Amino acid sequence: MHTRPADSLADSPLAQEARDLLRNCVHCGFCLPACPTYRITGSELDSPRGRIYLIKEMLEHGGANATARTHLDRCLTCRACETACPSGMQYGRLADLGREFIERDPSSSRQPGTRFVRLVLAKVATRRELFTALVRIGQALRPCLPAALKALVPAKARDRTQTRDVLAWPTARHARRMAVLEGCVQPGLAPQINAAAARVLDHLGISLVAARDVGCCGAMEHHVGRTGAALDQVRRNVTASERLLEGGCEAIVSTASGCGTFAKDYGHLLRHAHHSIAGTAARISAATRDLCEVIDPAALEDAVAAISKARGVSLEPVRVAWQAPCSLQHGQRSSTTGKVEALLRAAGCELVATRNPTLCCGSAGTYSILQPALARELRTRKLASLLGDRPAAIATANIGCLEHLRQASAVPVRHWIEIVDSILFA
Ligand code: SF4
Ligand code: SF4
Repeated sequence: MHTRPADSLADSPLAQEARDLLRNCVHCGFCLPACPTYRITGSELDSPRGRIYLIKEMLEHGGANATARTHLDRCLTCRACETACPSGMQYGRLADLGREFIERDPSSSRQPGTRFVRLVLAKVATRRELFTALVRIGQALRPCLPAALKALVPAKARDRTQTRDVLAWPTARHARRMAVLEGCVQPGLAPQINAAAARVLDHLGISLVAARDVGCCGAMEHHVGRTGAALDQVRRNVTASERLLEGGCEAIVSTASGCGTFAKDYGHLLRHAHHSIAGTAARISAATRDLCEVIDPAALEDAVAAISKARGVSLEPVRVAWQAPCSLQHGQRSSTTGKVEALLRAAGCELVATRNPTLCCGSAGTYSILQPALARELRTRKLASLLGDRPAAIATANIGCLEHLRQASAVPVRHWIEIVDSILFA
């Protein structure tokens, strides 16, 4: 797609990069059926191709407009369109540039209420200690909350099981060590996930240590167009992660696929920075792994077989519906495709059939708060497809999807490592 940015953007690196990305789109429309918002509204403007045209128009006119803002706000950045595109279009990167362009243009300013909500999300949800404290207050008040509010606050992890301490971490004792990202909202909402990962990896001969000095990955601020703040956070994380690698950790592991996808992009995000930090960022990206990439299915299968033998019983297969987060199946697809499914099967789970596995659940970072109607509709459709074959649980790999689905699911929604952990150690 040929684009000629307005003369006023002649010196804009953002406009040049967007123009280069736009070249890959050949307007074929193969991406349309893959787009969750297009499937709901049926409007070309809510499709990848429509949004690409809106970004092209903004560049050619040299300014943002409310129509482009509305339809880019409705985009989940799920990147299903990238998986469907035969032409290698990097839509996610283009959408981020489009959003940054809109945020920089005062003429496309949002309503004060919307601006306030976006600011609160960027300032509160990205701060681990503050967010965790707010969740703990919500959990203390949970018994008295009305049902609608109660659904938003997860029960305390320790209250969900009386048989063992799901928050217990093993002591680091192995020569092989990896660091795990804590992120911003996961320690408050589901601290048992990283503890489960630490126990499973410990059993397989790897010590997991919490990367306490690495903060929010920066994705939340980046996706609401606060690019400067996001890059400052990325730089801090790169420096803190470098210390972990120098201290002997062989990988930076993420148990939230949304955060891992963004961390794998640090090298690209800082490619124009000073060469020393740009090089370090590229090394951090290369060392970042989703949890499913660091566990060998054969080793897990052996561990489950050994435990089954020691207990003298064969373990009952758990019937699980696998919900592949978009960040895993579209964002990290080349390195993670099929890996969680293989691990769940190795642990003895039976994966039930699901329909439309590539469609987004509607969580998408802050999307479920900023676009609640579309998010709810997508969740209803996703749950119908996941629950059709009556699983005992839904497994996912991202805290956002987990929380969003949990609030309306008839069966427990858990990170897949929690399911593996409960098979090994229950
Ligand atoms: S499938 Fe790719 S090339 Fe075709 S319209 Fe969509 S983004 Fe453009
Ligand atoms: S990222 Fe997802 S919601 Fe956005 S245009 Fe692509 S397929 Fe549609």
